[in-house]
Amino acid sequence: MKKILYGLFCLILANYGCSPGTPTVIILQPLGNYSEMQTMQIRDGLIKFYGIKICVAKNTPLPGTAYYKPLNRYSANLLLQFLSAKKDTAYTIIGLTNQDIFTAKNNNLHWGVMGLGTLNADASIVSSFRLHHDARLYDELVKLSAHELGHNFGLHHCPDKTCIMADAEGHNNFYRETGFCVNCRKKLLDIGVMIR
Ligand SMILES: [Zn+2]
Ligand SMILES: [Zn+2]
Repeated sequence: MKKILYGLFCLILANYGCSPGTPTVIILQPLGNYSEMQTMQIRDGLIKFYGIKICVAKNTPLPGTAYYKPLNRYSANLLLQFLSAKKDTAYTIIGLTNQDIFTAKNNNLHWGVMGLGTLNADASIVSSFRLHHDARLYDELVKLSAHELGHNFGLHHCPDKTCIMADAEGHNNFYRETGFCVNCRKKLLDIGVMIR
C-alpha cells in the first residue's frame, strides 16, 4: 500500500506544476541494485542544497547496451540517453549506479568518471564506484549529485577549487569543496533555483 501511495505521489509530482524549462521536479532513478539508503541520503542532501522537489523512481535494471565488457564499465553517455527517455515531464533525471562508468576524454575513449551531467536539463548519471567507501561516502555522494545537477541547471566547471562546480580532473577532491561560490550561486538564482 505504501508503495502504491508513493507511486501515485511520484505520478502526481511528475505531472503537476512541472512546466518544461523551469527547475521544478527532479527524478532520482536508482539503477540495478543501487542502495535504497544511499538514494534517500542523496535525495535529502540535494533538498538541503537546492529548493527543488525530488521524486524517487523505482529501481530499474541498467541497460545491457551501455555495458562495455573489456573494462567492466558502463558508458555514461549511453546511460544518459537511457535516462533522458525516462524523464517524461520532469525537469531532469539523475541516475544512480554503483557500477563504474566512463566517457570519452581527449584520446581516452573509456575514461573512468564519477558522474556526468548534460549542460541542459536532459539527464545526469552519478556513480558511487570511485568514491571513498567509508565515513566520507555520504558527503561525496551529495556533492557529486549536486555537481551533476548543477550541469543540468546549465553551470559549467568553475575555476574556484572550493566550489561544488570545480572540475574533478580525474581526482576525488570533494574534501576541499565547501558549497557554491558566489558566481555559481548567482547563476542558479538567476534561473530561479533556490539555493539554501
Ligand atoms: Zn562536471
Ligand atoms: Zn563556482
